[in-house]
This record gives sequence, structure tokens and C-alpha cells, in this order.
Amino acid sequence: MSQPTHVPVTRTVPLCAPGAAGHTAGLQVSAIRSVRLVDGTLADLVVAGGQITAVLPAGAPRPAGPLGATGIPTGTATGAVELDAHGWRVIPAASEPHAHLDKALSGERVDYFSGTTQNDLAAAIEQWRGLLATIDEADIRDRATRAVERYVSRGITSIRTHVDFPLTGDPLRGLKALTAVRDALAGVMTIQVVGLAGQHTPDAVIEDAISLGLDVIGGCPHISEDPHRETTRMLDLAERTGLPVDLHTDEQTNADELDIVDLAHQVIARDLGQLVTASHCVRLGSLPPERLHPVLDLVARSGMGIVTLPITNLYLQGWDATHLAPRGLTAVRAILDAGIPLAAGADNLRDPFNPVGRADPFETTSLLITAGHLTPVEALAAVTTGARTVLGLPAVLDVGPGRAPFAEATPVAADLILVPDVDLGDVLAGAVDARVVLHGGRVLADTRTSRTLDLSQRSPSTPIHPAKASAGIPDRPVLEHVR
Ligand SMILES: [Zn+2]
Repeated sequence: MSQPTHVPVTRTVPLCAPGAAGHTAGLQVSAIRSVRLVDGTLADLVVAGGQITAVLPAGAPRPAGPLGATGIPTGTATGAVELDAHGWRVIPAASEPHAHLDKALSGERVDYFSGTTQNDLAAAIEQWRGLLATIDEADIRDRATRAVERYVSRGITSIRTHVDFPLTGDPLRGLKALTAVRDALAGVMTIQVVGLAGQHTPDAVIEDAISLGLDVIGGCPHISEDPHRETTRMLDLAERTGLPVDLHTDEQTNADELDIVDLAHQVIARDLGQLVTASHCVRLGSLPPERLHPVLDLVARSGMGIVTLPITNLYLQGWDATHLAPRGLTAVRAILDAGIPLAAGADNLRDPFNPVGRADPFETTSLLITAGHLTPVEALAAVTTGARTVLGLPAVLDVGPGRAPFAEATPVAADLILVPDVDLGDVLAGAVDARVVLHGGRVLADTRTSRTLDLSQRSPSTPIHPAKASAGIPDRPVLEHVR
């Protein structure tokens, strides 16, 4: 049977202006036309099998590939459409590398300053324990689902979430809730569930969690009585099960000992490398260079990744400082310079550990630029490509500096955010509302905002500048240009 000799016309759907009504959720796309890349060039992205298979100059002929029986290029989903994205730019979809979905959106139940004037890490843990006794599996599932909807709408298509093993009631109720959310969304987005074991969590509970589908071993040696013993216990479990490990590490600004040194030595000795992640590492940000650099050399040799969580650590740290409060960030600049994979996220979302937060990767990029002094492209990489490296996820469009346009050598995941084609600085500042979010080439969310704005009328009797008015100098004309 002969192959068709032409590519049939695929339906084209215009994205329309950012202020138009959102209308593309649920569409599977076979191409995104006339979209601006991070490097400023205009391109057409070809999508097949959930991946970007070609990045072409805008308007260039699509390369002839094998056609299926229906005349559609092989790998193109049935019913897929081409998006005309003129007036939009594309960046990789973001990852949230460290969430606590079991705690998310519980903030309305918290009296943040009850009994304390310092809502630091220890106070937040106490508040959460107080809440936890009243929280069941359905409660966790409901809040986690609502939180995931926020993350996805803002451009996050993969989430690594930690989950507590409560010491009262069913210790696995959080895990059951979050694996149910994960499984309900399998194929739609990626969720990894990390068990946040405390020093009093028995091995048997963690092993039960593994049999129920836990994805990653986790713990918090930094608040254990014997951090070395707890780190060893977690890595032993990882070696026995083959699962990755993600440990809360050095989440203090002023501890004498650095748990990450012991962790890195053990990772090297056990050859666990990229299976291990150290989250927070706040203490590194307060070390002088002569102490910091040998530690980062060791971490780089271990192959571990580091997760930084600006918004939550800016909130939790520094309460006892009378002046020059520490920023609560890890040493992000030195970590990048040492060649250590860096992921950035938000950690908590409207809960005892963080009363605010927007589930927005651009909130994190803003903080990485202002508080961490990263460049905009470095900040974008930390919430996208860097985060995916640390989480072990397939590659997406590269955003690194110096990247050549149209240079994607191999197919990459079609996980993308389309935003209005404004200056990238506006995007990373979180100043754009319109976002279209795709996972595997399927549109998960299409968010637009409508606004009416009229600054043209003011009372003629009210001079803008009284001194000018009294001197007979006319005010500026009405502001038609901002309408
Ligand atoms: Zn955490």
C-alpha cells in the first residue's frame, strides 16, 4: 500500500491575544507556530509523541517524515492541532522540586502568632503537629488537589512533594492521600512522593510506605538527636530498595556542624551520586568562603543535587536577629560556580511554615534574582532545567546562556509554558498573568485575565501639583496613553 505523498492540512488554532478568553485547555498540539524562544528568535516547534521533535525557524517547511495510514506524520496524536502562537513566547514548564502537599493550604486554620513572637522553624513544626491531630486522609487529598491545580495553572507540570508520617493516628494517611492524587493524575503530570521520616518513625512504617508506592526516601537528620545515625539509616534504606533519597539538610543559619559533609562522604562511599538530593542547605549561605569552598568541592564530587527554597526559608530564618538578619538562602552563586545541580522551588504554600506563596515559579525566580543575586537566565534554569536534573526527569528545552537557536539535538519533553511576548524580565518578575501550560504536548491550563482600566478622568479642580498650579504652570494632559 502506497504512502500518501502530502501532509494533510492540520487544523490551526490561534492562541489569540493574551487578553482574550482562555480556550485551549485539553487540546493536543502537533506544532506551535511563530513563537519566541528564550534567545529571542522566532521558531516553529514540531511536537510528536509528547516530545518536541524539531525546532525550526518560523515559517520554515516542516521536514518530510514518515506518514501514517491517515496521512498524518507518524507520532502525531489523533485530533492534534497546530497552535498559532504569534505574540507569545515559550519557556520550559517549571518543576516544584520540594513541596509539602499534605500541609498546603492549611494556613486559614493557623493562628501564626499564638504563644510566640517568632514563627520560626521550631514554632511552625509545633503548630503543624497541633493541626495534624485533626487532619484525616480526605482532608489531605482535598487540599493537595487544590494546591496542584494552583501549581499547574502557574506553569508547574512536575512536583516532588514530601509527606509526613504522623506519630498519632494512621502514620500512612498522608502517603495514601498523596499517592492517590499522584495516581489520579498519572500521565497528566508528574508527581513524586517523598516520605519525610523523623527520628521516631520506625523502619517498618517506611517499608510499608514503600510497598504502598513511595517514590523517594526522605528524612530530616538536621533536627534529629543524632544526625549521622539518621543520615545512615536513610541511605541504608535507599541502598536496600534502590529508591532515590531527598533529605532536609542543614535548615539552620547558625549550627556548628554541617550535616551535608557527612551526607556527601556517605554518598561517595556508597556510590549513590545522582540518586541523592540535599534540600534547603541554608547553613551553607552563612559560611565564609574559606569554609564554604571545600564543602562545595566535596558535594560536587559526590554528584548530589541541592534544592534551594527562597520564600519559605526567608520566612522561617532570621527571627532572632536584632539587625542584619540572614537571608536564609543557601549559597546559590557558589553552588552554581562549583557545578552542582541546583533546583529552586517554594517549599510550603499557605501553611504554618509559610503564610503566603502563590504556587508560582516566577515568585521563586524573583527571589533568586533579588535575594540570591542570580542572573535572570540562571534563575529561570533553577526552576526548569536545573530542577528537572535534580528530580531525574527527562530534558526540556534548554534555557542556558549561549544556547544556539534550533540546536535541540534530540527530542525533548513537550512540557512548556507560553506567556505573552514581552521582555523576559517581566515574565520572571511574575508580571504577566496570561499563561498556557502544556505537558507532553497537551494543554493542561489556559489562564487569561480580563481587566478594565481607565485613568483618563480626574477632577478638573484638583491640580496634580499645587505649586505648579499656583505658578500658572499647566498640568500634564490626561493620560490617554495608559488606557
Ligand atoms: Zn521541606
